[in-house]
Amino acid sequence: MSLFPRGLSAASRASEVSSEPRAPQMSTQPVSEQPRPPPPRHRVPEEAPRMLHAPTPREEMWTRAESLAWRLSAELGMPVRLAVTDNRSTMVSFRRGGNALQLRLHHMFLDAPEPVVRAVADYAGRGHRTAGVLLDEYIRGQQPRIRQVRRETDADLNPRGRCFDLLALYNNVNTTFFEDLIQARIGWGRMPPRRRRKSIRLGVYDHQTREIRIHPALDRPEVPAFFVEFIVFHEMLHQLFPSTGRGGRRVHHPRAFRERERTYPHYAAALRWERENLGVLLRG
Ligand SMILES: [Zn+2]
Repeated sequence: MSLFPRGLSAASRASEVSSEPRAPQMSTQPVSEQPRPPPPRHRVPEEAPRMLHAPTPREEMWTRAESLAWRLSAELGMPVRLAVTDNRSTMVSFRRGGNALQLRLHHMFLDAPEPVVRAVADYAGRGHRTAGVLLDEYIRGQQPRIRQVRRETDADLNPRGRCFDLLALYNNVNTTFFEDLIQARIGWGRMPPRRRRKSIRLGVYDHQTREIRIHPALDRPEVPAFFVEFIVFHEMLHQLFPSTGRGGRRVHHPRAFRERERTYPHYAAALRWERENLGVLLRG
């Protein structure tokens, strides 16, 4: 998706700025139809065209993107097709094809200092892996500019399954065991692609979003309700007893958590059922 209307100026062919949020690592997005000849080496890039009106943030960004594409083209002596992204995990990606470099950069690079721009050229254009160190350092310093995870929408967290209504289970557990003190949302997780599994995570609780997701493998008639309820109960306990310790020595189920978990009326039966039916669950 292009952020800017085509034909803003002839120079817009040199670069395309996109805000595609989920771009693949090595993008094959077509960036330009008409390759422009490489700018002469060692030439100072020309100033961006003047705007006749106050530039909008988009125009400003476009101008900076164009200028960056020029600087990189001049540095490398080859056309650089630049796409500017707002990615969360891939800050730099590139593809060398034909006589041009297709480059996707996070917008944090639009006002990067000269050494960082040179490092981008070295890394993406010349294949100097060592330049990655400087890039990593720059990216670390720019963390606040990286978009935070957008929370999944309510629609994404569906508690109604074919066999079990998680919200009904959750409400019942909350009243029965927690005096309605737990505040979380609950829904079925997505069905992962079918493949042989060695283990299965039946539930997950996200402290930041207060969301509980239950593995869809449990939404089957042969799974007893008390077992699904136990998994829901377990995930709710995570809100009450956050993990302790830090770094590699994190304890996800502290002693108080485990003690409280054992008070579940069908605790032993639930563990037994899990042990005896794990194979079925793993097969999905
Ligand atoms: Zn747990």
